[in-house]
Amino acid sequence: MNAERGSAAIHIKLADGKITVSHTGFGGAILHYGSAQEGTWNAIWAVIRGMVSNEKIEECQHLDYYDTMTGAVCNDCGFEEGGEEE
Ligand SMILES: [Zn+2]
Repeated sequence: MNAERGSAAIHIKLADGKITVSHTGFGGAILHYGSAQEGTWNAIWAVIRGMVSNEKIEECQHLDYYDTMTGAVCNDCGFEEGGEEE
């Protein structure tokens, strides 16, 4: 198996039949929004469970990071912390 490359993070929310995909940094900018047909949430999980092995991990403490114009990005896991967020 070739491992996925790169670092990225998104937040996916399902509410009232709408799915909102937003950046975890950059002030939570919305990348995609709209009505989701029935089964969409299960389909998202089907991809994750079908293509990603399930391993125990230790929570990243984001100790090794670099500052950006809007916050900071973890060098270990790619997590973005926006300076504009509370
Ligand atoms: Zn981290």
